[in-house]
Amino acid sequence: MSSPFERLNISDFLIKALEKQNFKKPTEIQERVIPGAINGHDIIGQSQTGSGKTLAFLLPVIHRVDPSKDEIQAIITAPTRELARQIYQEYEKLAQYFPEDQYVRAKTVVGGTDRKRMVDKLKNVPHVLIGTPGRIKDMVINEGINVYTATALVVDEADQMLDMGFIEDVDQVAARMAANLQMLVFSATIPEKLQPFLRKYMENPRYVHVNPEQVTAQDIKHVLIPTKHQDKTKLLIKVAKAYNPYLAIIFVNTKKTADEVADAMLAEGMNVERLHGDVPPRERKNIMKRVQNAEFQYLVATDLAARGIDIKGISHIINYELPRDLDFYIHRTGRTGRAGMSGIAATLFEPSDQLAIQKLKSCNIHFVLEELRGGEWVEIKTRTRKNASNREKGIVLPKPKKVKPGYKKKLLEEKKKLAKKRKGFK
Ligand code: AMP
Repeated sequence: MSSPFERLNISDFLIKALEKQNFKKPTEIQERVIPGAINGHDIIGQSQTGSGKTLAFLLPVIHRVDPSKDEIQAIITAPTRELARQIYQEYEKLAQYFPEDQYVRAKTVVGGTDRKRMVDKLKNVPHVLIGTPGRIKDMVINEGINVYTATALVVDEADQMLDMGFIEDVDQVAARMAANLQMLVFSATIPEKLQPFLRKYMENPRYVHVNPEQVTAQDIKHVLIPTKHQDKTKLLIKVAKAYNPYLAIIFVNTKKTADEVADAMLAEGMNVERLHGDVPPRERKNIMKRVQNAEFQYLVATDLAARGIDIKGISHIINYELPRDLDFYIHRTGRTGRAGMSGIAATLFEPSDQLAIQKLKSCNIHFVLEELRGGEWVEIKTRTRKNASNREKGIVLPKPKKVKPGYKKKLLEEKKKLAKKRKGFK
């Protein structure tokens, strides 16, 4: 029987490895990137985590390796250790089906691990090197690891690389690779500042953009929960408990908020961990492992710390607040509803978020408005905005000031007195 993966023109053993993982057909990014990449084209892929982008570069890279040559033929760089390890794990899932005579070896090179051991590890030369830019640069420049033979370079999450100041390291590695370098760059956004790097190494790159709406077309229910001026953290705790998720990621915008929210949840006895830039790398790795093993029910995270991380089985995303850059809404929510599972992406919102929500709606995201009443989720029916009550618009008018009992009566008497006085003046 012919397989939908055949149209990618990849080796039979790779097709078999995909089928063994129960994948039915290529994702859009795979369909649009792989055939060109196999022919050696430079490609810029703009797509989010969850679109299947890792295999969109891994498959052509592995396909093009000549296993009979014991030399580094491709380098894959990722901005974080977790992401590099995750790419390696995707490789491992494929590698178990490689025939012995076509076995493509890959190794990871990341910071935070023993340098000497890493150098030793690389003595058995891999065909594909997967790692973080700083450590790869260190191995190439200080340890003399030969990458002149490598003809393919993948830069994953390039915009994040730029944010973290890693593009320079990638540049230094690229400069030591083969002259006829094929480059595959993947990024959720293509900031202007990335252009000089792209122009330096890429020749007439093909540009493949998978629209966010196609990414969000997964089975995700987008829920808006009006905060109605309630204490946000208390509301979050109520919401999180009501969902009773298998695994929920709670997204916040700053490290400080992450700590505050996680502390409040801990105080409630909830099974929660946190992931942000100030959590030391070693600990982060440990947290990731424990999250993967479903040891926690909740993970409070900032965008940068959690970006690109593929955690299986995320049933809920809760946005404690909307991200400042709305693209991140797509990154965040794309983590649930993966691989055919359904997911819920809930956002606590305030009246000041209306404009941002309109923008998201114009990206084809369909929201339902819900609130908790007596522990039950109730959909707030949206009428036309004109007719909608303030509550439906998420607008909460200030409550009338509390008045002392008898105050109104007194006021009325005062008014009467005043009216009498006035009459007397006439
Ligand atoms: P990524 O965008 O690379 O983070 O991939 C997200 C998830 O999609 C990973 O868990 C992959 O194993 C999975 N995946 C990749 N390609 C396919 C496919 N063709 N069909 C179904 N799932 C896939």
